[in-house]
Amino acid sequence: MKIFNYLLCAILFTSFSTYAQNDVKAERQQGHTNQNKFKQLYDEFSTPNVFRTGSGAPGPGYYQQQADYKMDIEIDDVNAKLYGDETITYTNNSPDELKYLWVQLDQNMRAKDSKTPLIGSSEISPANLSSSVVKSYLKESFDGGFNIMHVKDVNGNNLQHTINRTMMRVELPRAINTGDKFSFQIKWWYNINNHVKDRGRSGYEYFEEDDNNLYTIAQFYPRMAVYNDVEGWQNSQFWGRDEFALPFGDFDVNITVPADHILDGTGVLTNREEVFTKEMMKRYKKALKSYDDPVMIVTDEDARNAEKSKSKDKKTWKLSAKMVRDFGFATSRKFLWDMMAVKLGEKDVMAVSLYPKEGNPLWEQWSTKAVASTLKTYSRMTFDYPYHKAISVNTPMGMEYPMICFNFGRPDKEGNYSDRTKYGMIGVIIHEVGHNWFPMIVNSDERQWTWMDEGLNTFTQYVAEQDFGEWYPDALSPQHKAFPSRRGPAKNIVRYMGGDQNFIAPVMTKGLNTYQFGSNAYSKPATALNILRETVMGRELFDYSFKEYANRWKFKHPTPEDFFRTMEDASAVDLDWFWRGWFYTTDYTDIGVKEVKKFAVTTTPNDNGKRLAERYNRDPESLVYFIEEGAEGFEDAMKTNASLDDLPTVKEYIMDNFTPDEQKAMKKAPKYFYQITFDKPGGLVMPLIVEYTYADGTKSRETYPAQVWRLNDKEVSKAIASDKEIVSVQVDPDLETADVDTSNNSWPIEVKESDFDKFKGRARD
Ligand SMILES: [Zn+2]
Repeated sequence: MKIFNYLLCAILFTSFSTYAQNDVKAERQQGHTNQNKFKQLYDEFSTPNVFRTGSGAPGPGYYQQQADYKMDIEIDDVNAKLYGDETITYTNNSPDELKYLWVQLDQNMRAKDSKTPLIGSSEISPANLSSSVVKSYLKESFDGGFNIMHVKDVNGNNLQHTINRTMMRVELPRAINTGDKFSFQIKWWYNINNHVKDRGRSGYEYFEEDDNNLYTIAQFYPRMAVYNDVEGWQNSQFWGRDEFALPFGDFDVNITVPADHILDGTGVLTNREEVFTKEMMKRYKKALKSYDDPVMIVTDEDARNAEKSKSKDKKTWKLSAKMVRDFGFATSRKFLWDMMAVKLGEKDVMAVSLYPKEGNPLWEQWSTKAVASTLKTYSRMTFDYPYHKAISVNTPMGMEYPMICFNFGRPDKEGNYSDRTKYGMIGVIIHEVGHNWFPMIVNSDERQWTWMDEGLNTFTQYVAEQDFGEWYPDALSPQHKAFPSRRGPAKNIVRYMGGDQNFIAPVMTKGLNTYQFGSNAYSKPATALNILRETVMGRELFDYSFKEYANRWKFKHPTPEDFFRTMEDASAVDLDWFWRGWFYTTDYTDIGVKEVKKFAVTTTPNDNGKRLAERYNRDPESLVYFIEEGAEGFEDAMKTNASLDDLPTVKEYIMDNFTPDEQKAMKKAPKYFYQITFDKPGGLVMPLIVEYTYADGTKSRETYPAQVWRLNDKEVSKAIASDKEIVSVQVDPDLETADVDTSNNSWPIEVKESDFDKFKGRARD
């Protein structure tokens, strides 16, 4: 009987509640669109297989190709030309037989017959600088494409090859099978571009004052394309935007430059004694043990002296690198050079900077320290930096290669700089050094998925910037307590996500085809991960899973699914809805509080109650009634304002059903009852974070999981029983969900400051 009693109460209560109505409404809605935001991502994800498992880890059949390079490079500084000769040894680890190899000729994007300029749209501008008119309409375009002199096998026989714009197919004399190696030679040269005038990730910067070039050189050699289980050959053309997909390999590179140049690049310098002066060797040995401050290897004075003349002699710098996916270097007689050691676990890594005197005083102060700080944060968030050095080079752009990156940021001629310049410089150094992890070691396919390196890297950059601000407070301007990160905080993405949907693409879009590239491939995924860490998963689960992903895929080639799957696999947090919303759609967050209904509780029967009591054959006096504010009986019930457990019928029920100990353990004594309806005009599903403020000024918070929207994507109601009166309700009080419209986030609707001031003014009158 007692059980029956309880059930009846439950039935009656449910019939009053709105849950049932919501469910019906929700079902109707779903039938309509047939799309649930919590639907598993089976249609979007590739099927797990022997190469890549459902857990997001490499499978038992996982393989990757290897490309080893031996190169001789010479820079003709007078004519700005690069000459190269390389032997590539390609190892086929795939289970497939290969008839031909694809080699990337990225510089052909700058060839005279490049189609890159033709895919843009161009307009006549009513007012123009004469320099841009000359460049656009008078000048022949710069010819910076590769001139391939020959492609030969190791015995000197020509190999048949076909160049299709930025890709070259090399025919193999005989097909290569699993485990086979094939070596071949390519000889080439090209005109180095002025990357400041013509833009570009590599090239030279010209300094008129002392008539010198500063070279930051990359994509300078024919590079093997990736062959894998996902794409076969990744030979999608290089149009200039989507970056690179490259296999790992070992590099031995000899670079010949004017004898008065200072050079550094990817790999260990194997002939240091030959290219360093005695003085430089002495300073270098000191730097190896300097953990707090950089040591100058080439001083300002040295560099100013070197700038004054031009040596006719040559010097060859020899660099050797193991397990890198690419190679870059910088060379100039203008370079100052400093280094310091960084302890990472048991190992010392050198943080290194190369910059012209024009970079000072900013560069000698902060570059190497920013490198050191980045190495520490990224190692903590992922895995210890595996290489022996990380170099930051000053040039007017930001671009990354293994162990070396190019970074902007310079004071004006008088040495003055704005906060923007300083933070921009530190930020770009952290970002580009961070690229050593994504994509140089966690080697994703940039040609296909920009966000996989830029998004993950920009997220980690945010964490590293906050660390840098903490570790080097002197670098912050007095008005800043923390590093003012541009990308990462949820509120900074609101403008983009709430913008014109015609110019927003999902993150899962090839970079070339996306609008607002920076927001799409950098800011949005970085913010999504930050929200995932701070709001959805929590730091502990997120950090563990992020680290797991990095470790599973270091020195390997992950795909988006490998990342998505690992984050779930290591955390037990269902995230299909999150990936779908943030990565596969352009939906935005907009959650609000729609209405708050207040109820009073009583046992005095009303008409509704009498009807129901009759239907279930119950004594009307034995039921509990919730009366909505404004309805008949509400005021009377509020006058008594009884605590729920004071109602005789409830009291009786407790006495009959609970042991004395259980009764004592009951502590709740709610007196105020609310039904609060939250609505969601935005398409994005997010946790519902609510702050309740009570009449006594205290506050409480509740985070309802995102799944609260699973049956009704538009609105959800919550029945709240409280011992204190609720005076206000605030959705997303800390602005952590990137809610694009906060005008609907509070109840009662927040009085705008101006209205409030008016009100205050009137009150004084
Ligand atoms: Zn980047």
